Amino acid sequence: MGFWWRPLLALAGFSLTALFIGVVKSVNAGWIALALFLALYLLRQLRQESRLASWLEKTVIIPTPAPRDVGLWGDIFYRLEKLYNKQTRNQSELATALEQFQNAAGAVPDGIVILNDQDQIEWCNAASRAFLGIDSKRDKGQFIQYLLRQANFVEFLDARDYSRRMTCRSPLNRETQLTLQLVPFEGGKKLLVARDVTELERVDAMRRDFVANVSHELRTPLTVVGGFVETLADMEKPSDADLKRYFALMLGHSRRMQRLLDDLLTLSKLECADQPPGEEQIPVPSLVQELGREAEQLSHGRHRIDVEVASQAWLRGSLQEIHSAFSNLVSNAVRYTPEGGRITLRWAERDKGAAFSVTDTGEGIAAEHIPRLTERFYRVDRSRSRETGGTGLGLAIVKHILNRHGARLEIQSVLSKGSTFSTLFNSERLIHPQSDVQDEEQPRLRLVK
Ligand code: ADP
Repeated sequence: MGFWWRPLLALAGFSLTALFIGVVKSVNAGWIALALFLALYLLRQLRQESRLASWLEKTVIIPTPAPRDVGLWGDIFYRLEKLYNKQTRNQSELATALEQFQNAAGAVPDGIVILNDQDQIEWCNAASRAFLGIDSKRDKGQFIQYLLRQANFVEFLDARDYSRRMTCRSPLNRETQLTLQLVPFEGGKKLLVARDVTELERVDAMRRDFVANVSHELRTPLTVVGGFVETLADMEKPSDADLKRYFALMLGHSRRMQRLLDDLLTLSKLECADQPPGEEQIPVPSLVQELGREAEQLSHGRHRIDVEVASQAWLRGSLQEIHSAFSNLVSNAVRYTPEGGRITLRWAERDKGAAFSVTDTGEGIAAEHIPRLTERFYRVDRSRSRETGGTGLGLAIVKHILNRHGARLEIQSVLSKGSTFSTLFNSERLIHPQSDVQDEEQPRLRLVK
């Protein structure tokens, strides 16, 4: 049953009592009693209304308990208080959720801007300031197209094609490449998401360059070999001398392709390797002597080769990788040093660690090339590198191997005087023979090319 029966019951009670007085005393006394009851009832209603009004006034400022009463007004006070408490709870939950959303959106590395159906800014996170220069307080209510004056942005915004992404430069930093995307949500609002893709673009450009370089490097020898095969096929009776000459040239070019593929595979293995290089004990003094002999073989007596072993320290790491890195430097020195030049291989303690260095009296390298030498396929003189059998990947391989061993490459060079390529290892990689070398017998060098 509803609440209406209670006032009805009170009115019925007043009427019956007044009727009783009217019968017992007089009709007038009955009417007077009824008027009195109604006046008292009205007074009580007015008092409760004023209690309600003053409670509502107070509780809006500081939540206070509702007045207590019996009957209908008691019920009203109790229910209003319950409703008010529930609303306060909902509000605080909503405020917490909003705060959490703002904190989370603020922590997102992408720039996020909320736009209304007129493309005015309603809210944005901290990253959008760094990427787009939009400030959540200053720019609230501004039209986004007035702030992002990028070419094509207005067209992108008006197209309302939510599957599309737009690439542009950050208005704050031209080096930063951004992709912009619009995501619609309720009531014509949109999220404008700005993502920094500078690194992705750089990697993509590197990948494109790499594919172009590899194709270019392979095309030349392939074309040459293909040309010789065609020539031979067209020749009626090639002489033995022709055959010998053509086969020698074809062999040279196919070896070049082989070297390129070997270096590409080595580089790819090093780049994909997620395991550390291993903990083999590498007897560097004997490795350096071995490299000296290799240099003699490569040089065919055209250079003077010196080997200086000033440290007996060994290295911890991968013997195969370290040998590959050192022999790349030795082979470069032989290839880029003209006949009569001098090449020195040196292993010595340096800066609390040790260094293997190769010094030559060759052609040297101009300073502007030095920072780029370890890039894949970077050569100072492309044809010189090719003539001497270079692939343009040697120093990139050296850099990867050294990185894996926590070491670094230092290049010093003076044009027309010569160069020194040094590999610097820190002390953690070193083993000192008296104390640290475990095996009595020196491990035999297993040098894999
Ligand atoms: P490449 O197979 O062409 O030798 P690298 O990566 O080993 O490739 O070397 C990159 C470039 O660095 C070479 O093309 C060459 O121009 C230069 N370079 C490397 N070592 C030397 C050196 N000892 N003297 C002069 N230039 C060198």
